[in-house]
Amino acid sequence: MRIYEPDDQGYWGEYGGRFVPETLIAPLDELTEAYFTYRTDASFQSEYIALLHDFAGRPTPLYFAERLTKKLNGAKIYLKREDINHTGAHKINNCIGQVLLARRMGKRRIIAETGAGQHGVATAAVCARAGIQCVIYMGSEDMRRQELNVRRMQLLGAEVLEVNSGSQTLKDAINEALRDWVTNVADTYYLLGSALGPHPYPLMVRDFQSIIGREVRSQILEKEGRSPDLLIACVGGGSNSIGLFYEFLGDPKVRMIGVEAGGIGNASGQHAARFSFDHSIGVLQGTKSYLLQDLHGQISTTHSISAGLDYASVGPEHAFLHDRGRVEYTSATDDETLDAFRFLSATEGIIPALESAHAIAHLIKIAGKMPKDSIIICNLSGRGDKDVDRVTNE
Ligand SMILES: *Cc1c(COP(=O)(O)O)cnc(C)c1O
Repeated sequence: MRIYEPDDQGYWGEYGGRFVPETLIAPLDELTEAYFTYRTDASFQSEYIALLHDFAGRPTPLYFAERLTKKLNGAKIYLKREDINHTGAHKINNCIGQVLLARRMGKRRIIAETGAGQHGVATAAVCARAGIQCVIYMGSEDMRRQELNVRRMQLLGAEVLEVNSGSQTLKDAINEALRDWVTNVADTYYLLGSALGPHPYPLMVRDFQSIIGREVRSQILEKEGRSPDLLIACVGGGSNSIGLFYEFLGDPKVRMIGVEAGGIGNASGQHAARFSFDHSIGVLQGTKSYLLQDLHGQISTTHSISAGLDYASVGPEHAFLHDRGRVEYTSATDDETLDAFRFLSATEGIIPALESAHAIAHLIKIAGKMPKDSIIICNLSGRGDKDVDRVTNE
């Protein structure tokens, strides 16, 4: 599996690295050193696993979707139930790991960015139980769209700071969080929410999320006695997908598909599908990867029905896996996603997050074309309570 480790500078092939102001190099070095110490530290790892168990509710079930399998009339379908996690999505796996690390490093204040609010809520919850100060940056547009999550974060004791610059969404919130970190770096830990950003974040977030695939491997062995044929997950920054895929990367018989936000069309500004339409490479927020940008290198506006997939870049490990052909990437449109959201709710009694409904949309396209003795595992990254208003008002 070592080919899937980044090099010492945090590069997978030409992707990744560290594109940050000079003042962040020393703190990133400190973070890297701490992370590599605790990555193999038995007491750190056992505390992490114990919290996943008792606070997040892991292991999450691998659920056989019997009615969905019958209706799609092809492969046998299992859903990995990350939606059952405390606070409603896979995000908490990463937050638990990073808050433990921040404490080991002696940091007294945690900052984070959030788009839809899922990462903010998970961060606020884990900080509350650790008794550590928590500040969340959120775009004013996102605060308006996700008001319930703002109130949840506040109840959990976090201070939510409104970001009015730019498009007033996730990208702008990350900029503000980075600015805060540069200013307060001595006592502050920056808790990044996806497999993005400067080294070591993409590696560290992937490691903390790879519990998903490790559980899946033993669960599918127990249920079916073999590895799956296909894994499907949605790809925003790329953390739930790499968390599922990583365990199986070295197993060439397991096919993997990442599903991006196809939005309302393939013109610039109508989607957030970094791999599907244009193919351009550039730097955004500390890392080099596939990027939606115009001819002058300006970051394109993006669109998705789901805030969690609405980002102009994608984690560098995905860029590498894309170029090697190890993982295939495709997209689902807003309309296909809405249909999938309703279909899964009515068929299985599970309301998925709109992000996860992108993966379900692709599952619906592909399952019927596969033989009945094949096995698909689809990651249900989060629950859809936050999206009910949006979907029923469409
Ligand atoms: C944040 C989020 C995503 C997208 O982020 P990744 O890092 O790509 O996983 C997907 N699903 C849900 C439910 C989310 O909250």
